[in-house]
Amino acid sequence: MNRQTQASQPGSAKGIARILILPGDGIGPEVAEQGVRVLEAAAKGAGIELEFEEGLLGGASIDAKGSPITDELIDRARAARAVFLGAVGGPKWDALPFAQRPERGLLRIRKELGLFANLRPATVFRALIGASTLRPEVVEGIDLLVVRELTGGLYFGEPRGDALVDGVRESRNTMVYNELEIARIARVAFDAALLRGKEVTHVHKANVLEVSQLWVTVVEEVAKDYPDVTLHHQLVDSMAMLLLREPRNYDVIVTGNLFGDILSDEAAMITGSLGMLPSASLGEGGVGLYEPVHGSAPDIAGEDAANPLAAILSAAMLLEHSLGAPEPAAKIRAAVEAVLNDGHRTVDLAGEFGLAAVGCAAMGDLVLQKLEQS
Ligand code: NAD
Repeated sequence: MNRQTQASQPGSAKGIARILILPGDGIGPEVAEQGVRVLEAAAKGAGIELEFEEGLLGGASIDAKGSPITDELIDRARAARAVFLGAVGGPKWDALPFAQRPERGLLRIRKELGLFANLRPATVFRALIGASTLRPEVVEGIDLLVVRELTGGLYFGEPRGDALVDGVRESRNTMVYNELEIARIARVAFDAALLRGKEVTHVHKANVLEVSQLWVTVVEEVAKDYPDVTLHHQLVDSMAMLLLREPRNYDVIVTGNLFGDILSDEAAMITGSLGMLPSASLGEGGVGLYEPVHGSAPDIAGEDAANPLAAILSAAMLLEHSLGAPEPAAKIRAAVEAVLNDGHRTVDLAGEFGLAAVGCAAMGDLVLQKLEQS
């Protein structure tokens, strides 16, 4: 990353929010740089003072420190207001044992920060409607947010693993949630809905799973604290179909780890492009982690060809969720929309529309220009 960063100590001056930037590998540093430029400009325009420091995660950390993440980095992340990540991984490190690979760094930082809520918005920009595989009239106006529980459920439940029972191979995973885990993720969803369309759809499988029945009960209890938000319950199998048939009807979708994993990818793909999808992970300690949904795209790394808009839209989420600043976040989204409306596309989207492609840095410049005009 070719930008000057300010090193700072925990306990810096009150009112200044410290952001830890982890550019990572592949296109990570390229897209993170554009995201940070836009974040800095939007925050400044809103009178928010930010302090940036940079750290190593993933392959970059393996090369420099021999491990995908260090304890020192985790301490710095805990002391920051938010973490802004590019992407990690690449073929250079693919032959390493599982525990030493770049992706382990990402899993560990999520765990150490207690990031139990994963927020993935799926929005269709009018200029990109043609990039979806669904018909334009189905896609137009989609603006939904999937809130997925990230640290519990089937992916973490015990007992788990393989066994030999009477000479027959068996394997098991356990879906388990307690009411506290359900209530805290439900609150994230209801809080988000208050800032959006004021509707929450809870997705479950309560017709066959006791765990889902507890979810229904606890989500309804939490809903009592949010009289302005309308709550719906939807079975996961029908939700998978409804998302394809009428995605516009949904505002906030809240669900457990397994269902959320599947539905957030489905919702994302409805919108068309991996290079456009931001995400936020929020946790108990108050530190949020913001990153594009895409990976490190080693096939185009170093070519100034990556689409930085997912990273730029992740910066908007950071302003909204970690800095309580929805106005500059909305300005970033409006600037992205205006750039797309003017016909500018990075190479991943240009082909779809027969347009000439702009580079990663040029796309960042265009968004900054629109932001300055707003
Ligand atoms: P990927 O998302 O990196 O790439 C998939 C395809 O989409 C590639 O053709 C790539 O060129 C394209 N693409 C992705 N982001 C783009 C962007 N911003 N602009 C333009 N094109 C873009 O997924 P992959 O190829 O399966 O994985 C590559 C590496 O990334 C692997 O090492 C994987 O483990 C890692 N990965 C990291 C994360 C993360 O850091 N959160 C997430 C997924 C994958």
